[in-house]
Amino acid sequence: MNENLLEAAIAGKEGPIISAVARAEGVRPDLLLKQVASGRVVIMQRDGKPPVGIGEGLRTKINANIGTSADLFDPHEEVKKARVAEHYGADTITDLSMGGPIDEIRRKIRAVTNTPLTTVPIYQTVVERGSFEAISEHDLLRTIRKHVDEGISSVVVHAGFTLEMLEELRSVKRIMGMVSKGGSFTSAWMLENGRENPFLSRFDEICGVLAEGDVVLSLGNSMRSGCIHDTMDDPQEKEMEMNARLATRANELGVQVIVEGMGGHVSPGEIHNYVAHYKRTTDYRPLFVAGPLPIEIGAGYDHMSGCVGGAIAAGAGADYLCYITPSEHLALPNVAQVREGVVAFRIAAHIGDALKYGLGAEDKRLAEYRRARDWENLFGSAIDGDRAREIHSQDGMGTCTMCGKYCAIAIMENYLR
Ligand code: SF4
Repeated sequence: MNENLLEAAIAGKEGPIISAVARAEGVRPDLLLKQVASGRVVIMQRDGKPPVGIGEGLRTKINANIGTSADLFDPHEEVKKARVAEHYGADTITDLSMGGPIDEIRRKIRAVTNTPLTTVPIYQTVVERGSFEAISEHDLLRTIRKHVDEGISSVVVHAGFTLEMLEELRSVKRIMGMVSKGGSFTSAWMLENGRENPFLSRFDEICGVLAEGDVVLSLGNSMRSGCIHDTMDDPQEKEMEMNARLATRANELGVQVIVEGMGGHVSPGEIHNYVAHYKRTTDYRPLFVAGPLPIEIGAGYDHMSGCVGGAIAAGAGADYLCYITPSEHLALPNVAQVREGVVAFRIAAHIGDALKYGLGAEDKRLAEYRRARDWENLFGSAIDGDRAREIHSQDGMGTCTMCGKYCAIAIMENYLR
C-alpha cells in the first residue's frame, strides 16, 4: 500500500503536494511538512487538482455548502452553484445533496470543479434507506467507501458524542436543542436503536478506509449552539474533548483531521474565547467554524452577520470558515445567494488574515488603483470585481459618479501635485 500524505510527512518526505501548497501559501516547505506531520495543517486534494492546505500559519480558507434538498433537487442548479462558488473564490465545496440523483449530482459537481470536495455520507445513506432506524453500520461504511473510492477529498462524520451525552442534552437548558443535521440523523439512529454512536463504534475501521484513500476526516460538531443564547454547555464541552481524542486517534491511524467546532451561533463577545478554547483543547489542529452568526436578527442578511462573526473567528485563529448565505435558516440558497455567501466569507477570511498576519499587499495595491482611478486594475484586484464593475457602470458615465466633478482625489491631486 502506498504511503499517504500524513505518513509521508511523518517520515519527513516532502513530495510535490507539499511543495505546491508551500508555493501557493508562500511558506517554507520544510516548515509546512512539520505542520502536516504534527496534525496542525491538513492538505485536501483530489485527482491532480491544486491541493489546498488548511491550518496554522496558512491563509484562512472558506467552504461553500451546496447540494439539493429533499424538496428542491435540480442537478443543473447545483452544478451552476458549484461553478459560481469556485469562480468567486470558495477554497472547497461540500455537496450536501439529499434529493434527486445524488450520485450523479456529486459526480457532476466533481467533474466541473477543481476545488477539493467534501461529503457527509450519512445524508445519502438516510435517503437511500428511507428511515433512520433502517440504516446499518454497514450501510454507513459502504457509503463512506463509495465516496472515498470516487476520489472525494474529505468526509464529515459525527463521531464525537455518545448516548450519555444525548441523555445530558435532554436536561440542559437550550432554546434550540441540537441543530446539526448530521448530528440529528446520527442521534435519531442511536435513540431508535438504543445503540452507541455508529461512527464511534466503527471509528478505526472508518479511519482505515480514509487512510487508504488519503481522505481528510472532518469531525462534525453535533452539539454546537443553535442560537447565541445557547452558550457553551456540558454537551458541547464533552463533544469537543471527545473530538480532540478522536483527532489524535485518527492521526495515529494515518488520517489527517479537521475539527469542526463552536459553529453556528456565538455571541460576539465570546467568539475569541471559544476559538482559543477549541484550539487549545484540540492541540491546535485545524478548526472549521460554520459562520459563526454573532446576532440572530439579521435574517435575510445572515451572510453579512456571518461575515462579521467569521472575521472575528478567523482573526482569533479559526483556520477554515463555512460560508453562510442570505438564505440561511430560510430556504435552500439559489445561485445568486451562493455567490453572495462566498464573497461575504472571502471578505471575512481576508479580514481574519489581516488580524492574524497583518495587512495584505493586495489592499495596498487596490488603494493605489483607486487613487489613480485605474478602474480595470481595481476591478481585477477586488474580491468580486464583477460586482464592482457592474456598479461603476450603472450610470453609464465611465467615471465614479459619487462626487462627479467634485472628486476629492482629483481636486487634491491638482493642489498637492
Ligand atoms: S468621485 Fe468621490 S467617491 Fe468617487 S473616487 Fe472621487 S472622491 Fe472617491
